[in-house]
Formats: sequence, C-alpha cells, structure tokens
Amino acid sequence: MKKKRNGTFSIRLSNLSRHNFFYIDHKFPLLGHIAFGIIDRGTNLLQVRPTSLCPLSCIFCSVDAGPLSKTRATEYIVDIEHLTKWFSQVAEYKGEKVQAHIDAAGDPLTHPKIVELVKKLRKIKFTGTISMETHGALLTIDMVNDLDDAGLDRLNLSIDALDPSLARRLAGADYYNIERVIKVARYVASSLKMDLLIAPVWVPGLNDEEIPRIIEFALEIGAGKRWPPLGIQKYEAHKYGRKPKGVKPIKWFEFYRRLEMWEQEYGVKLVLKPEDFGIKKAKRVPFSFRRGETARVKVVGPGWLRNEWLAVARNRLVSVVGVEGSPPVGRGMRVEIISVKDGIYLGAPL
Ligand code: SF4
Repeated sequence: MKKKRNGTFSIRLSNLSRHNFFYIDHKFPLLGHIAFGIIDRGTNLLQVRPTSLCPLSCIFCSVDAGPLSKTRATEYIVDIEHLTKWFSQVAEYKGEKVQAHIDAAGDPLTHPKIVELVKKLRKIKFTGTISMETHGALLTIDMVNDLDDAGLDRLNLSIDALDPSLARRLAGADYYNIERVIKVARYVASSLKMDLLIAPVWVPGLNDEEIPRIIEFALEIGAGKRWPPLGIQKYEAHKYGRKPKGVKPIKWFEFYRRLEMWEQEYGVKLVLKPEDFGIKKAKRVPFSFRRGETARVKVVGPGWLRNEWLAVARNRLVSVVGVEGSPPVGRGMRVEIISVKDGIYLGAPL
C-alpha cells in the first residue's frame, strides 16, 4: 500500500493477497454467491459485495480473509456498472425503497472504484439508506470526504482496540494504524453528513478492557446521530474462520447480559434490533433451486475456496464444492444442490 499526495492510498492488489484474482464482469450473474455480488436475505436491505479482498488478517476473522488466509483460492473483484445494474433490478423487484449495505467477505474499501459504486447506487431511484462496513485500514480523510459527497449515509467502522499494539495484534497486521483510523473516525463524526457507527468485535479474554474504552470513545466523538452509535459484535468460532488460541466464545445470554450492564453504565443503547436500522421483512427474490435437486451447471471460473469451482445455471451463481484440480471452464456438469440458504447455492458433483 502506498500513500499518494492527495491522501488516498494506491493499492497494488497483488500485495493484498497471495491468491488468484478473478474479475467478474457482465458475463456473470450476481445472485447466488457468498463472496461477491448481491445477497437477498428477505428484507428491505440488500448486501452489496464488490470484492472479497482484505488488507488485514484479523486473528478472529469469521471468513478467513486477508493475505494470511489458508482456505481461499481466489479473490473476486466485481465490475461496478454490472453490480449496480443487478442491485437496481433486485431492488425494483422488491417494490419498495431498499437499503444498500456495502459489505464483503473482506473489506469493501479494497475495491478501486468504491466511491463510484456509492455514487451509482445513490442515483438509483429504489435506493434508500446506503451504509458501508469496514475495519478502516484503508480509510483516509480524503476518502471519507469523497464517500460523503457520493452519498454514503453511514459508515460502520470496526474498531476492536484503541491500544495500538493490541489493535495490530487483533488485526494480524503490523501495518494496521489504529491512530489514523481514530483520527478519521473523529473527523467523520464531527464534520461530515454521514453517520458513524462503531462496531467492535468483542473477543473474550483479548479485548475485554477495550470495549468500555471504545464505548466511551464513540460517545465522546458523537457517533450515532441518526442510528445507534455502537454495534458490539460477538466473536463466534466459524467452521472456515480463524480461531485465536485459548479463546472460547461466550454464550449469547452472557453477551446480552454484559451489553445490558454497559447500557446502564453508559446510558446508551447497545442491544440492537433490525428495526433500529429500519430493516424489515420484504419480498424475496424466489429461489432458483431446491435443496436436493439435480441441476446442470456450466463451470465458468475458479472457486473462492480450495476444492471449489465457480459455475452458473438458471442465471444464478453456484459454487461447486468437493472438486479437485483446475476448473474445466466452459464444461457442463451435473450437481446435486446441497444448500440454498438465503439464495446462496452450493452444488456437489454427481
Ligand atoms: S475481520 Fe474483516 S477486516 Fe478483519 S480480516 Fe476479516 S474481513 Fe478483513
């Protein structure tokens, strides 16, 4: 990463990952994959995933992202024009204003055209609130100014520790500069139209003492003008995620009990519900496959994780799992659809 004169970073994508890059253009559908495109979970919010890259390798990362990933084979970057077209179509189908939540199985700021994405989403008449999730490693004052002008309504910024050395340890990256992230956070809260939500991941035993400090910080800088100022996230051990040694996830009731104690201590809302963000159930794009059915798919590229291929069928993406070797691009194959959860399709070869 290199800082340019105008304060933005020029990212050499190859520095962010040892894996292959795959560019997703108009030839690919954008519903059906967890790592890129559009995800519809049956609400008035659509997740918009422009890239799977990440500059950090957080030691608790639920999706094993970043340069130190052990499970990934490919990182995807999506054409912005194509992504906004799909967002617009899905939002129109829902028949109401739809929130565009830009997130990633990585960090959306790694997309070189992230500001353009916000601009294009803003111009779509079905777009409601636009929010974006990031750990802020690539944030600069210039970038937040640009995102503000482009029409971003809320930045969900994950700050897991204010202490610089602990922040670097949690981020799994020596170059992670929490002091710069803090400076940008202060600037967003004090000087921009967009709102700021601070979203730490609480990793029990590692950053317990930092969470109250982060709550105080969010309140001090004036985060949360239109929405709650904090969204504390619970560390969970995921099948393909990173699991820090010696850390055991706490039980949900314990998590909420702790949040309630902090709510009382600081007089701030910490137990959050979808309604706090205006999220409600909405018409869902019908599933294109049923679990257990046999489908013919066409292999179109490399898979996201090892032993996967990327395939398409019925204008949807399908991840073919449990395969070996290079993807036989262009070849048709029969798969059994083994998962359709939230319109994300996994197929196993037959
Ligand atoms: S937690 Fe977020 S920022 Fe950290 S490695 Fe994972 S995707 Fe990247």
